[in-house]
Amino acid sequence: MTPSCNIILKPGKEESLKRFHPWLFSGAIQRMEGKPEEGDLVKVLDCKGNFIAIGHYQIGSISVRVLCFTDRDIDAAFWLEKIASAYKLRVDLQLAENENNNTYRLIHGEGDGLPGLIVDVYGDSAVIQAHSIGMHYARNIVADTIIEVVKGLKNVYYKSETTLPYKATLTDEKENGYLKGELTTEQPIAIENGLKFHVDWLRGQKTGFFVDQRENRSLLEKYAKGKSVLNMFCYTGGFSFYAMRGGAKSVHSVDSSAKAIELTNKNIELNFGADPRHEAFAVDAFKYLEDINDKYDLIILDPPAFAKHRDALRNALQGYRKLNAKAFEQIKPGGILFTFSCSQAVSKEQFRLAVFSAAAQSKRSVRILHQLTQPADHPISIYHPEGEYLKGLVLYVE
Ligand code: SAH
Repeated sequence: MTPSCNIILKPGKEESLKRFHPWLFSGAIQRMEGKPEEGDLVKVLDCKGNFIAIGHYQIGSISVRVLCFTDRDIDAAFWLEKIASAYKLRVDLQLAENENNNTYRLIHGEGDGLPGLIVDVYGDSAVIQAHSIGMHYARNIVADTIIEVVKGLKNVYYKSETTLPYKATLTDEKENGYLKGELTTEQPIAIENGLKFHVDWLRGQKTGFFVDQRENRSLLEKYAKGKSVLNMFCYTGGFSFYAMRGGAKSVHSVDSSAKAIELTNKNIELNFGADPRHEAFAVDAFKYLEDINDKYDLIILDPPAFAKHRDALRNALQGYRKLNAKAFEQIKPGGILFTFSCSQAVSKEQFRLAVFSAAAQSKRSVRILHQLTQPADHPISIYHPEGEYLKGLVLYVE
C-alpha cells in the first residue's frame, strides 16, 4: 500500500522522529496535503519537504504511529521482514520451537517496530490485538504472515473489540473472530516453562493469559519452598502454579472474579491433580486483606492497571500505597512480598515511592531483593522508553 497523503511538519518538529521515536504528536503538524482517514498510511515530511517517516494516521494527540523511517512500500515484503525478525528473536530466546514452552508474545507493538499491534502465541494458536485503526485494517496481512512465519501455527483469533480507539467508526467490520482456522477442542492447553494451563481468549481478559509475568513467576518458584503463599489478583493462577511446583506448604489464590477462580482451580488440577495445598477464593482484595494477620510468608500483589490514563494517576498511586500497606502491616516477619504495577502511566519512580511510603507507614524494616520488569519477548525500543510498563519489586520484610 502507498500513503494516501503527506503530512508536513512545523520547522524543527522532526527532531524526535529523527531520533526514531515512533509517535508524531498533532501539535507538530504544519499542514496536510490531502485528507487522510483514520487508519490510512501517511508520509511525514519536514518543512523543506524531506522524507522523515511513514506510518498510520490516527485521530487524537498522537497523529501518526510510525512503521518505517525509510521511504518504502508497506507491502507484503515489509510485513514479512518485520514478523520474521520478531519470530527469530523469540526462537533465539528459546521461547518458540521449544517443547517446554509454547507461550510467548510474538509482537509487542513499538518494541517490535509495529506500533498498535500485539500478537500472543499459545502453541498452534495466536491471538491478535489491534490498538489502532491502521493495524485493524492490516489484520489480514498480519494473520497471513504469522501463519507463514511461525512453525506449526494453525489458528489466528482477532480480538480487538475493547482495544480499538473509541473515536473510530467502523461499520460492518468484525472486531472479534477467527481470521485463520478455528479451535476444534473445547479449550486449548498451552505450556509455559513446563507448566500447563487452559487459555480462554474468547471470554478471558486481554489475549487470555498474562504472558508478561513468566520470568517473575519463575523467580517466585525459587522462593516458595515450605512457604505459605498468598497470590492476590491471581486471574488464571499463574503465580500459584509456580509456587506449587516450588514446594510451597500452602497456596491461596484470590481474585474478585468467580470466573478467574474457576480457571485457577482448573489449572491447578491440570498440573497437580487434587492437591490439598491449594485453595482459591472469589473475594475483593481489600476485603480479603483486612485481617489476614501473619498467616502468610510470601505475598504476591499483581493488581490490574490502577491508572489507565494520566488523569487517574493520583488515585492510582493512593491505591498502590493502600494495597501495599495492608501487606506490609500483616506479612509474617521474614516474609517476602512480590509487588507489581502494570500501569503505563505510572513511572518506576512513582511506583517505588508509593511502595516506600506504604513500608514507612508500617514501620517495618524492608529491603529490596529484586527489581523486576517485563520479559525479553516484551522488548522496549531504546528510542521509546514509554514502552516499559511492567514494574515490580521483591521485598524482604522483617
Ligand atoms: N497475576 C495474574 C494477572 C492479574 S490481572 C497473572 O499472573 O496472570 C488482574 C486481576 O485482578 C484480574 O483477574 C481481576 O479479576 C482481578 N481484580 C480486579 N480488581 C480486583 C479486586 N478489587 N479484588 C480482587 N481481584 C481483583
